[in-house]
Amino acid sequence: ERPVPSDIRIARSQQPKNILELASEIGLQPNEVSPYGTTKAKISLSVLDRLQGEKNAKYVIVVGITPTPLGEGKSTTLVGLAQALNVYKGVNAFATLRQPSQGPTFGIKGGAAGGGYAQVIPMEEFNLHLTGDFHALTAANNLLAAQLDARMFHEATQKDSVLYDRLVPTIKGTRRFSDIQLRRLHRLGINKTDPNALTDEERARFAKLDIDPERVIWTRVLDTNDRYLRKITIGQSSTEKGICRETSFKITVASELMAILALARNLQDFKRRIGSMVVAFNREGNPVTADDLGVTGALMVLLKDAIQPNLMQTLEGSPVLVHAGPFANIAHGCSSILADKLALKLAGEDGYVLTEGGFGSDIGMEKLLNIKCRTSGDIPDCVVLVTTIRALKMHGGGPAVTPGAPLKPEYTRENLELVQRGLPNLTKHISNGNKFGLPVVVCINSFETDTEAEIRLVKDEALRTGAFGAAVSTHWAEGGAGAADLAELVMDACEEENNFKFLYNLDASLDEKIQIISREMYGAKNVLYTPEVTQKMKMYEEKGYGNLPICMAKTAASLTGDPSIKGAPTGFDLKINDVSLSAGAGFVVPIVGEISTMPGLPTRPAIYDIDINTESGEIEGLF
Ligand code: ADP
Repeated sequence: ERPVPSDIRIARSQQPKNILELASEIGLQPNEVSPYGTTKAKISLSVLDRLQGEKNAKYVIVVGITPTPLGEGKSTTLVGLAQALNVYKGVNAFATLRQPSQGPTFGIKGGAAGGGYAQVIPMEEFNLHLTGDFHALTAANNLLAAQLDARMFHEATQKDSVLYDRLVPTIKGTRRFSDIQLRRLHRLGINKTDPNALTDEERARFAKLDIDPERVIWTRVLDTNDRYLRKITIGQSSTEKGICRETSFKITVASELMAILALARNLQDFKRRIGSMVVAFNREGNPVTADDLGVTGALMVLLKDAIQPNLMQTLEGSPVLVHAGPFANIAHGCSSILADKLALKLAGEDGYVLTEGGFGSDIGMEKLLNIKCRTSGDIPDCVVLVTTIRALKMHGGGPAVTPGAPLKPEYTRENLELVQRGLPNLTKHISNGNKFGLPVVVCINSFETDTEAEIRLVKDEALRTGAFGAAVSTHWAEGGAGAADLAELVMDACEEENNFKFLYNLDASLDEKIQIISREMYGAKNVLYTPEVTQKMKMYEEKGYGNLPICMAKTAASLTGDPSIKGAPTGFDLKINDVSLSAGAGFVVPIVGEISTMPGLPTRPAIYDIDINTESGEIEGLF
């Protein structure tokens, strides 16, 4: 249909098939599927055991050039390519996607279910509560926060001996440590199992976490853009006896638990990562973990359903697994390892699994490969690099765009000079993929205003600078049929010999790893650290966290640390202002510039447009 109708109209015009029908089509057995209504279902992790001996499908990652406000269409391309492979190439293809945060849904408009004729449906379900995973995660995160503050309160207001008696009470005449308490004793080097056998000194050491209120890392979270929670004081009721402290909220997707949900390899690994999260440092400077607070099992219980990936479908009825949604700056920004592992088995040896890296390849792909794939052990066969002619024009010096305002003629009429000047950004991202030893297929996500000559220019340059191939794709306007050429190229690229290698080895120092990423992926010359950052990195290395991979938190809008710089500059300095530790997720986070972990609402948020039609019961105003 032309002109292409709105995302929501297209999504509504297609009746999704019953999710149990899709589940059976992809080979799931009835006991492996828990439907939530008729369009969504949870998939049991037991499928991984059943299909253990099967070979994996081909694994394709979809990444972008440096994003611009014009949007590149990575999710749309991922969904369109999955549709093309399924419907037009007749192979099994799974798309795996992040679940979007509710913050942006009600803040600035913009869905994450793809767009046009390449979408996940029903898009309302995808963009809102889905199956409640984020709510469960919020509950788990905040239970930990409540336990942490309560523990600090109890330690401050009780004698050590009383604290010990309450932590290890005598129940029906016997006194016993719980499993999690035994683990803490072991970490403290106290090799006793009888609570009555501890010396006074050992009892005090066991009971007192002695958390330094100035060095609490854990914060509460909420999946709402609520700027007033960026800095708060807690404990102001008289019942807390003046034990107040300043803290903050983050948005739920910025919780370390979200990164863990995305990186867990199985239930045991999930539990181990939760238990080892460093939530604070004590007054001696040693880490205090979730295990020390005794909360690991309780969090696991709250998250027992959230660990199962969610099954949905594309507009053309092919399978999509939606699972987890970690931030792409302070976390790694990818959907879950478990969803990919399920999809790789379910799609089978001749099938394809497509997943996405957030932001541009410098950040999203780098973290997808160095963090997610290193953790999962699943190595991709090919990279799809999404670009648009319009975005390249902006990198070539095209004018800034105002959201909502009509686009300037530079973007709607042929302008070969701007495209030419923007090409270095594309070629930098091609070379980034090649540095990992992977074939790169460039997808030119087609807009109606692109001209033949502009497309020719981009294709030629892509091939000249190391791309395996380049294809124009019209999936947005035409669905899977529009991505058939792209699908063909991707299938060919996956047959290529793969020389995959990680960008750095884990045993390099934190500084060396940061230098390699900054030089190789961004084009930086020097990395500069503040004295506090140098000191913190040294402390992390001393405490045994030096072997973790790096999760760079840098603006996505530029290859440099300055969001206003477009194109592909080189030789610049990159300044690291802060560094933090996500020990459970398993990475160290160097922070370039200021990263906000709690967005705010604009003057006119999407809230104004969102409503429910009381006649039809349908949701209105979502994108
Ligand atoms: P990304 O994943 O890169 O953030 P999305 O795939 O979510 O981008 O697309 C962003 C927005 O751009 C969506 O609203 C989508 O409908 C729109 N869009 C994507 N591709 C096209 C296209 N070829 N023509 C017009 N609009 C598009």
